[in-house]
Amino acid sequence: MMIKINEIFYSIQGESTYVGVPTVFVRTTGCNLRCTYCDTTYSYYEGDFKEIEDIIKEIQKHRTPYVCITGGEPLLQKPIYNLMKQLCDLEYKVSLETSGSKSIQFVDPRVKNILDVKTPDSGARNSFHMENLKFANSLTEFKFVICSEEDFDWSENFCRQHDLFQKYTVLYSPSHGKVSERWLAQKILEKNSVSRLQLQLHKIIWESTARGV
Ligand code: SF4
Repeated sequence: MMIKINEIFYSIQGESTYVGVPTVFVRTTGCNLRCTYCDTTYSYYEGDFKEIEDIIKEIQKHRTPYVCITGGEPLLQKPIYNLMKQLCDLEYKVSLETSGSKSIQFVDPRVKNILDVKTPDSGARNSFHMENLKFANSLTEFKFVICSEEDFDWSENFCRQHDLFQKYTVLYSPSHGKVSERWLAQKILEKNSVSRLQLQLHKIIWESTARGV
C-alpha cells in the first residue's frame, strides 16, 4: 500500500502535550482546506508515493518512540490508517495532527488525535466534522489557532457547548502575526479559560536568532 508523502524528518515536537519530545514527523501530501495562515502550503501537491514498509524503515532509522503523522490532511489517504496501526503494533507513541474535517472513527484508538478545530478567521469555518466529538477518547486533544478576539470567543463557546474543557486537553495557539502570545495569555487569564496556551516550540527553536551554542 502506497501513501503520497511530502517529507519525513526528525525534529523536536513543537505542539500538543508531547511538546519538546524528539519525534519523527511523517508529512502526507494533500489538503482539503486552505487556511489563511497555512505554513505548509508546499504540502498541497508536492510529494512521492512510498510503500508503507519503506516509510516504517525510514522511521526506524531514528531512535525515538514518538511518531507524528501530519500534513496537509493525513486522513485524505486511506492507507494512513494501516500505517498508524502498524506503528502502534510496533509500540510507537503515535500522534495524528488533523483538522478534524474527516472522520476519525477508524483511527486506531491507541493514536493520540490532535484535532485542529478551524475558527472563523482561519478561513475554513464550519469544516469540523461534528461526529468526531463522539469518536474522541481520553488521548484526544483539541487545538484552536486563534487569529482574533472573535476567534477566541468562538473557541470558548465551542469548548463550553461541547464540554471539551471537562473531558479533554484544549490547546490555544496564537496565529503568528495576527495576535501576540502575550495578548492570548492575557485573554486566557481574563476570561478564566481552561485552555492551555501553546506556543509553537519548533518555531521558537529554529527561527530564533542564535544566542551562542
Ligand atoms: S488544514 Fe493545515 S495543512 Fe491544510 S490548509 Fe489548513 S493549516 Fe494548511
